[in-house]
Formats: sequence, structure tokens, C-alpha cells
Amino acid sequence: MWETFRYTGNAARVIFGAGTLSQVSAEIRNLGASRALVLSTPNQRRDAEKLAVQIGELAVGVFSNAAMHTPVDVTMQAIAQFDKVGADCIVAIGGGSTIGLGKAIAYRNNAPQLVVATTYAGSEVTPILGQTENGVKTTVRAPSILPETVIYDPELTYGLPVAMSVTSGLNAIAHAVEGLYAQDRNPVASMMAVEGISALKRALPAVRLKPDDGAARADALYGSWLCGVVLGAVGMALHHKLCHTIGGSFDLPHAETHAILLPHTVAYTEKAVSQLLSPVAAIFNTPTAGKGLHDFAVGLGAPLRLSDYGLTPADLDKAVSLATTNPYWNPRPLETKPLRELLQRAWEGASPE
Ligand code: NAD
Repeated sequence: MWETFRYTGNAARVIFGAGTLSQVSAEIRNLGASRALVLSTPNQRRDAEKLAVQIGELAVGVFSNAAMHTPVDVTMQAIAQFDKVGADCIVAIGGGSTIGLGKAIAYRNNAPQLVVATTYAGSEVTPILGQTENGVKTTVRAPSILPETVIYDPELTYGLPVAMSVTSGLNAIAHAVEGLYAQDRNPVASMMAVEGISALKRALPAVRLKPDDGAARADALYGSWLCGVVLGAVGMALHHKLCHTIGGSFDLPHAETHAILLPHTVAYTEKAVSQLLSPVAAIFNTPTAGKGLHDFAVGLGAPLRLSDYGLTPADLDKAVSLATTNPYWNPRPLETKPLRELLQRAWEGASPE
């Protein structure tokens, strides 16, 4: 039952479908731009160069040093190149790391951004930027950070390795699950959350069996888009904050950390808001959302143990201390003992309580 709520849409133009990469030139012109700096990670440099060739004179350079957690020194190098070549817009092709670099540039110079999203992280539809300077990660939110145009071409995800597809897909599901019990939850975001989780639940097992299954890849990208919209629309809670704390303090990979912790953080919070999480339990056809997410992750062969990433029991104590010294809102408040038990289970790869 909804009485009053607020929903702020983050306006972005979205072009979806197989083969839509061919529309990049038209979309650059749609932005009123004609001199694009194309961004990528070193891994996707060839994709960026190919795209630069495709758009011809609309590309004035390629910068392919995007890195995880958006280091500010890399942003400064990219801005120097942006200025040197006289670029007037950004075309980012890749996942959250490349998109983060584009956002960091736009945050500083207001350049319009076109994103070709190739993972399921969802950053392309949020006005949020996480960046790192001197080892400290900070998060900012501003209208200039939100990309103006997003192209989702499932064909570009056929080569996303299965392991990365699985963890990235679980990262997307995490945005939607937390959206369901957000403090500022609302029926519009919740509707997208349920649809996004359902699409990924259908798609990921099929992607795992056949990574170039066009229909499954489209479904996964559609689901991750909706989950990303939820991330941009409402506030996150324990799960995202714990991933941020642990990932940042122990330099863990982003999507894997989300994948491992999700069933455990959800089981923790579910004790306080089982009703709000009942759509998730229904999607997975399990008695609880935590169990459904755990079984799903096991079935997908997702990483399950923090211990596999070099964390020690002493690190878990430190993580609990960091999380509880600087507490954040969660439907079930953060308490030292249950939180330590949660991390222990995630460390061992046990099923959630
Ligand atoms: P990523 O962008 O770091 O990509 C991982 C690797 O996969 C990279 O080397 C990339 O080049 C490669 N890759 C990407 N797509 C590929 C494809 N289709 N085929 C082959 N290789 C491909 O990973 P990510 O999980 O997408 O992003 C993680 C980063 O994004 C983190 O820094 C995280 O904090 C940030 N993030 C931000 C938001 C936000 O709203 N601000 C949301 C989610 C994630």
C-alpha cells in the first residue's frame, strides 16, 4: 500500500537492440557534437579503435587507459587528451570502469556522454561517480555525471566471459534487491526492480550454457538496464555499503564482491523486511530471498567464498569494525555480532542463515 512517494527519473536516451552499435554516429550528431574522444580500458582498446574507424571523422582520438575505481590521475590524463585534440563529446565503450572515466571527465568539463555499455553493472544510467585519489574512494552525485545517451547492443556482450557475465549479472540484481527495501523506495522503482531481477534470473543460466545466445544476452542487458535505473533512483543500504567498505579496504574485485556477499546481506536484512523481499523469494520460488539468491549463485558457478580472495579472519574483524564505526541506514540496524557471523559465512562459502 503506497500513500505518498517521490520518484525522480534520470533522463537518458536509450537505444536498445542487436546491431545498434551502427547508430553511434547518428547519436553523436543528435548530441549536437562532432568530435568524439573514444574511451576504453586497455582490454577493450581494439573495440574502441574499431569504433573510432566506424565513426570516421567524428572520432578525434582514443584514450584506452580507463581503470577500476576511476583513479583521478587517469581522469586528468584523459582530460589533457580531450583538450589537446579539441574533443566536444565522450564516447565510452565498456563496463563500469570505462563509464566511470567518462563520467569523471564530464563532471569536470560538462562534456556530453554517449555510452556503449558492455557489462551489467548499470553505471551508464546513474548520476553517481565513484573516484579514487590517494587510495581513498569518494562518491559524488551530480546531473552532469549522468550520460545523455546509452546504446545497449547485446552483440557486444557475446564476448563477455561467462564468469564475468555471472558476477556482473549478480551485481545488477543487487541494485534491484536493495531498491525493494530502500528508505525512499517507490512503486515505479520497485516495478523495475522486479522486472530486472526476473529478466536476469531467466537470462543468466542461458548465457552460461551458450554465451552467444542472442535472446538471453538481450534479456540480460535489458534486466541490467532496469536494475541500473533502480540504483540511480533510490538509496542503497547494507549490501552496497559493505561491498564498498570491503572492496575498498582489501582491494577486492567489484562484481565478485557483490556476487559473494549478496545472499548473506539479503538474508541479514530479510529478518526485518521479509514482506518487502517476498517478490524476490517468489521469483526464485524459494521460502526466502536469501536462499533463492544463494541457490541461484551456486547454480551459476558464481564465486562463493571471500577466503578465495585472500581475506583473513582478522580482515573480517576489521571490516565489521569499519562498518559499525561509520554506520549507515539499513532496515535492520548493523550489529557487531550478527554482522561478523554474516561475514564468516561469506568467507567460508556457507549458505546464508
Ligand atoms: P569493468 O568495467 O572494470 O570491466 C571488467 C573488465 O572486463 C575490463 O577489463 C573490461 O574492459 C572488460 N570488459 C567489459 N565488457 C566486456 C565485454 N563485453 N567483453 C569482453 N571484455 C569486457 O567492470 P564492471 O563490473 O562493469 O565495472 C566495475 C566498476 O564500475 C567499479 O569501479 C564500480 O565501482 C563501478 N560502478 C559504478 C556504478 C555507478 O553507478 N557509479 C555502478 C556500478 C559499477
